[in-house]
Amino acid sequence: MMDYVLASRTVNRYYCSKCWGHLTSYHAETGYTVQCDDCGPGQGFVTKHYVEQERQKDMTVSGDTKRMLQDIGIIENPHKDKPVKDLLKELGF
Ligand SMILES: [Zn+2]
Repeated sequence: MMDYVLASRTVNRYYCSKCWGHLTSYHAETGYTVQCDDCGPGQGFVTKHYVEQERQKDMTVSGDTKRMLQDIGIIENPHKDKPVKDLLKELGF
């Protein structure tokens, strides 16, 4: 159980450690509990800062992977055979 201040702070600063979703605080008889609505009670929390860092890393990795797969020819680069003139036109020049 938490008091109101701690429960609000937890909701503001942490996400669910399982799904990284928002937390909700509930008023119970002896204080407040905080939990994820999707995963229910008993999940840990992670800081929002941590989640944002991890999401940033994911985006960087997926960008790199796409480029690498295009380089080795596993996924088609949609602009591969286009002349520079057409590419510039698509970019608005
Ligand atoms: Zn969750």
